[in-house]
Amino acid sequence: MTVTVGNVKAKPGKLERGELRVGSMADGSPIQLPVFIASGVKDGPTVWVEGCIHGEEYGGAASIIQFMRSLDIGTLSGTVIGIPVANPASFNFRSRVSSIDGQNLNRIFPGSPDGSHSFQLAAVIGEHLEKHADYLLDLHSGGIGAEVPFYVIYKDDGTQNATRSRELAKRVGVETIWRAAEIQGMGGTVTAESLRHNIPSVTVECGGGTFTQQHLNDYLVSIKGFLQATGNLPGDAPVRDSYTIISGGSFIHNREGGLFVPACKVGDILPKGAMIGTLINLHGETVEEIPNPYADSYIAALRCNYFPTHAGEICAEAIPVELREGL
Ligand SMILES: [Zn+2]
Repeated sequence: MTVTVGNVKAKPGKLERGELRVGSMADGSPIQLPVFIASGVKDGPTVWVEGCIHGEEYGGAASIIQFMRSLDIGTLSGTVIGIPVANPASFNFRSRVSSIDGQNLNRIFPGSPDGSHSFQLAAVIGEHLEKHADYLLDLHSGGIGAEVPFYVIYKDDGTQNATRSRELAKRVGVETIWRAAEIQGMGGTVTAESLRHNIPSVTVECGGGTFTQQHLNDYLVSIKGFLQATGNLPGDAPVRDSYTIISGGSFIHNREGGLFVPACKVGDILPKGAMIGTLINLHGETVEEIPNPYADSYIAALRCNYFPTHAGEICAEAIPVELREGL
């Protein structure tokens, strides 16, 4: 079956591009996702690679554009569908949530054609995944005002596809893997949706606040490694001597507003009670201290240095180390 997404039709040996229209604004301008489709001349699986499901996490978009445009199609088996921006209404306003309905697209899958814009968009993405994708690679970052280390997440719903997702997570060039069970707001994600359609998937996290050459390199290593592990590209995907599996834990929400002053770095592993950071008010007084509530935990996200933060926002993520293992 020829892969067609929006006005883009796969052609063997070619990189095609265009748009997938998902609605329109009040003034009639289209809401559309940019689409690349690269097709090899040899058979292979179809991989859906997307960025900016959280619109302000633009590093994924930049990396997909770079990757798709520099891909040597002659070496490709199967098909890669690259969607740099999966959520235009969030991307255009550099916001985590949709500018149209305020929803977090990555919490409302499977969506609904009868719901508000984000629900409609989720339903369109789900439909395309089900129709075309054998695998999903979902790119995220800390967004504006937060940082994450370079690490990977897979959803563990206990199925064979989750096991396959874990295998793929070990081949994207990172050492730390978050095994995310369906708890504490982790449902409704695009990776949970993909598992519902028996599509193994991983989420790569990288960078945030700024987008450096290192962040671009890390994303490109992860995209290439994933496509090697799925058999779309030749060569061996990266392997680490050991992997740190993290699980449980949570987003940490501060109770007071102010400027967030980190006391640790992303990627640190902190013992219980160690200080993650403090909130200071505009007179420079400490209004809240944020200790790590869990035993030895990986700091998987952190607000940027002195970033203005309201009460109840996410100031950090601390995820306990579950175990260390090999491939
Ligand atoms: Zn995100």
